[in-house]
Amino acid sequence: GGLGSYRGRFAPSPTGPLHAGSLVAALASWLDARAHGGQWLVRIEDVDGPRCPPGTGEFILSQLAALGLQPDEAPEWQSRRSGLYQAALDRLVAAGQAYGCACTRAEIAAAAGPRAKHGELVYPGTCRPERGGTHGRPARAWRFPVQGRITWHDRRLGAQTQDLATEVGDFVLKRADGLWAYQLAVVVDDAAQGISDVVRGEDLADNTPRQIALQNALGLPNPRYLHTPLVLAPDGHKLSKQNGAAAIDLADPAARLREAAERLGLEMPPGAMTTPEVLAAATRQWPHGEAG
Ligand code: GLU
Repeated sequence: GGLGSYRGRFAPSPTGPLHAGSLVAALASWLDARAHGGQWLVRIEDVDGPRCPPGTGEFILSQLAALGLQPDEAPEWQSRRSGLYQAALDRLVAAGQAYGCACTRAEIAAAAGPRAKHGELVYPGTCRPERGGTHGRPARAWRFPVQGRITWHDRRLGAQTQDLATEVGDFVLKRADGLWAYQLAVVVDDAAQGISDVVRGEDLADNTPRQIALQNALGLPNPRYLHTPLVLAPDGHKLSKQNGAAAIDLADPAARLREAAERLGLEMPPGAMTTPEVLAAATRQWPHGEAG
């Protein structure tokens, strides 16, 4: 199927509160939706429960509300959607597009060759069905058998390409600990929510070919993609919850929005502004017209 009218989303993992970097991604997705007269949704990606401290998703929603970034529909929570992920995995298995893997971490480490750019080992395909499957051992995880190269277009970065077979390998859909993998959940949810445009931080760009391959295997439309520049800490590292980026200080939400807009390269008028004024000025600055 094709893409309908513009629907965008911000999809934070509630491993910590919004920080200056995640606010840039939230604002970019909001602005792009507004500039295209579209809808903007929020999805709390709490699929990895153990990494999500209780209450963090609610706190992020309250931060967004304080910033005037109101979703157009009730937020979705991935922790409530495992039935959809299981149905997608069942379809992939039935189509020969997912297979059970019995390998332990140590076995993969012993067998694997190269390491993918994102640090994980490229799985050597030991349990692929054409290589005899798990040889009677119980499946621990479920994997997607990748094939060749994916080329795609990013609205900011332009033409992109990744050889899934050599650079990524057969990636996990359902983990050995029973948790759903981000790649499957995000693809299922983007399609279920009718997302036409994914706008997110550039650190996630490298996941896009895996998501496109999954969309294709499930017969789902490919959204358009726009990856925004990352906000770097003073030491040059990416700002992230993992390296302790501070929660945004919401004593002055308009000031935080202005900073985020400026990080997106938008020229904001000088002088004091209210939150709606900053959002309106940023929306006028954001490139309008056709996505893509
Ligand atoms: N939940 C992911 C994160 O916070 C983002 C997912 C996405 O935008 O595709 O890193």
